[in-house]
Amino acid sequence: MTTSHYDLHCHSSYSDGLLAPDDVVARAAARGVRVLALTDHDELAGLEGAAVAAERHGLEFITGVEVSVSWGGHTLHVVGLRIDRCASGLNAGLARIRATRDTRAERISEGLQAVGIEGALEGARRHATNPELVSRTHFARFLVERGCAKDMQAVFRRYLTAGNPGYVQHAWATLDEAVGWIVGAGGIAVLAHPGRYRMENWQRDELLVAFKAAGGLAVEVVTGSHTPAQYVSWGKAAVRHGLLASCGSDFHGPGESYRDLGELPPLPAGCTPVWTAF
Ligand code: AMP
Ligand code: MN
Ligand code: MN
Ligand code: MN
Repeated sequence: MTTSHYDLHCHSSYSDGLLAPDDVVARAAARGVRVLALTDHDELAGLEGAAVAAERHGLEFITGVEVSVSWGGHTLHVVGLRIDRCASGLNAGLARIRATRDTRAERISEGLQAVGIEGALEGARRHATNPELVSRTHFARFLVERGCAKDMQAVFRRYLTAGNPGYVQHAWATLDEAVGWIVGAGGIAVLAHPGRYRMENWQRDELLVAFKAAGGLAVEVVTGSHTPAQYVSWGKAAVRHGLLASCGSDFHGPGESYRDLGELPPLPAGCTPVWTAF
């Protein structure tokens, strides 16, 4: 099997994806994926249904999750692969994160109200199919529907990123906690889409050192939001730090993501794929 057969990062309607787990699996199978991980944000509830659907479609299913982390003033995402979805530490940790999303959503809504956008909390909740998981994506869908910006990218740029009215600082899990929960659940911790974090080069290296020291094993080298130049630079960074390389589309829904399921170029030469540790 090659990279194009693996998709180790995507979302269902249990977090901020548009499709139910069954439909994510069916779409992945139809697009040639043979090994799929569902990695919903801070939530494991979609895994059971996805596993059943994967069996039906003859696809190898990897249990996954994407944990929200605060580190050095940045928000990071850590993907866990091959986790035991019943592990108590992981479940308790994720429940704690989810429990903070409600007050955060209220604060996001207040920020939007301050610039004249009424009803954002109700609007975001209407788009959220998991009441415990109201995310910025749901606010973005509401804002696009309201005509506040032309598409998701524009909405994030204008309203939902640092310095804009619908952005609030938030304390997610620490890096050590997130990696600890994943490793404690028997899983492999992967630093998600590192190219998205706005950091200087020295801080990138510091992050990889801290991530590895916490028990992290791999870096997402090929992901929907990386450029071809970033595949190469993060591939080299992974090798330099003795980390494995992962790949995933980060698919959220048809027409809404950089890449569709299974639409991934190969890992750069020299990388050791994360699946060698499966
Ligand atoms: P939250 O966990 O509530 O902060 O929401 C984060 C989610 O927002 C990410 O997982 C992405 O799905 C989405 N997101 C963040 N930035 C962007 C962007 N620039 N364009 C589209 N979606 C984004
Ligand atoms: Mn998302
Ligand atoms: Mn992410
Ligand atoms: Mn993701």
